[in-house]
Amino acid sequence: MSEGAAKKEDKPRKFQAIRGTRDLLPPETALWNRVEQTAHEVFATFGFGEIRLPIVEEVELFARAVGQETDIVNKEMCTFPNPMRFSEFYRRLRESVSKGTNEMGTLTDLLPESEMISLRPEATAGVCRAYVEHNMQQLPQPVKLYTMGPMFRWERPQKGRYRQFYQIDAEVLGGTDAPAIDAEVIEMVMTFFERLGLEGVQLDINCIGDKNCRPKYVELLRAELSKVKDKLGPDSQRRIETNPLRVLDSKLESEQKLIERMPHIADHLCEECAENYRGVKKELELRGVKYGENWRLVRGLDYYMRTTFEITAKGLGSQNAVCGGGRYDGLVELLGGLPTKGIGFAIGEDRLILSLLETGHSPLATRHSPLLYIAWMGEKAYTTAIRAAKNLRNAGFRVELPPVEQKFGKALGQADKLGARFALILGDNEVSSGEWTLKTLADGKQEKLGESDLVEHLKKQL
Ligand code: ATP
Ligand code: MG
Repeated sequence: MSEGAAKKEDKPRKFQAIRGTRDLLPPETALWNRVEQTAHEVFATFGFGEIRLPIVEEVELFARAVGQETDIVNKEMCTFPNPMRFSEFYRRLRESVSKGTNEMGTLTDLLPESEMISLRPEATAGVCRAYVEHNMQQLPQPVKLYTMGPMFRWERPQKGRYRQFYQIDAEVLGGTDAPAIDAEVIEMVMTFFERLGLEGVQLDINCIGDKNCRPKYVELLRAELSKVKDKLGPDSQRRIETNPLRVLDSKLESEQKLIERMPHIADHLCEECAENYRGVKKELELRGVKYGENWRLVRGLDYYMRTTFEITAKGLGSQNAVCGGGRYDGLVELLGGLPTKGIGFAIGEDRLILSLLETGHSPLATRHSPLLYIAWMGEKAYTTAIRAAKNLRNAGFRVELPPVEQKFGKALGQADKLGARFALILGDNEVSSGEWTLKTLADGKQEKLGESDLVEHLKKQL
């Protein structure tokens, strides 16, 4: 390495968060906390318990649970060798390069699939894995679980779309597939949004049939789409073969008129599914939950069935879905468990917060206790100030105790800048007389108080 290069390397440089990830900063984090606290409270009233999951799982869990053919697994997942096996991975990589084969193969040719791990792109897979791993089918059914935290999808970052984003996720596993379960899960998320004051909330529901009736509908859809194939874009043309349901998802303007003329699944449900769908709608009505029906709301995976739903909110532009959910009765079995009913949803927390901010919910509205600034001068006053700070904080007040002595004028200026409501002035006079000075910054009013009266006096002003 040349000297110049070494120097360059030594030079400190600034770092930036990796593209698609971001820092959440105060005061916005106060709103995040309020949202999460509300979720804990509301979900608990519906009998849900919190589960905390690892952020990494075997790649195969997601390949199975989310689906090998989905964009999430195919294009967006962040997968790497288990760090304990890095050296083995590189040894095999070097070996395969030195053999000079043009074909590099896939990552899993270099290490067994079980040694490849992924950052979780969603939470349902982990919840179902945990349900099986901890034999939760032996608990009273259904088991109602929720979780929240970061998810990772390496897609193109834009407003409301990040590579590290946050979800609040709830799942009901086991028990029956009675329509009341679907309706109660939906009622819970709607209650949560209402409690937060989320605006422009719109719930869309659909029924996508089951393994008895959906295959016939898919064939019919494929046949109808084939008739207009030339007029569709390349993505949809491909999906006619691979997954015709996904064509219904298309946002491409030029395809909309054609798609609108396609057969609706509601007209092709078997009697059990039709009955179940009527039941879900009735149960929603009993709960006063308003919904719209959207026949184009689908899930591309086989184990998704019957109820699917999506919730949109205001202020989000084209990324306006804040929650997606549905029934997935085949999933636990696919992950090695017993046949188990399942339904759940995932809320995009970043978008939820964005919508709240866009509609004027100030993070500052979070009720903090008022700020009290302690302006102190002199060594004796400092000891008293430390004691006062401790007592006030124990009583729940926010207290700013300056770490170095400063003149009263400067201290009060600082208190003002921080938005403090009160300043406690402690100098030699105050310490020797035991009469402290409390100043209300808004109007400059000063009062003399004894140490023992201070907390009570402040509490009355809240
Ligand atoms: P989209 O069609 O917007 O990509 P999706 O179908 O991939 O959504 P789901 O897998 O259903 O989304 O996830 C549930 C919710 O998580 C979405 O409704 C959305 O609010 C949120 N979400 C998904 N991907 C991202 C992301 N990259 N950044 C922020 N939020 C996201
Ligand atoms: Mg997506």
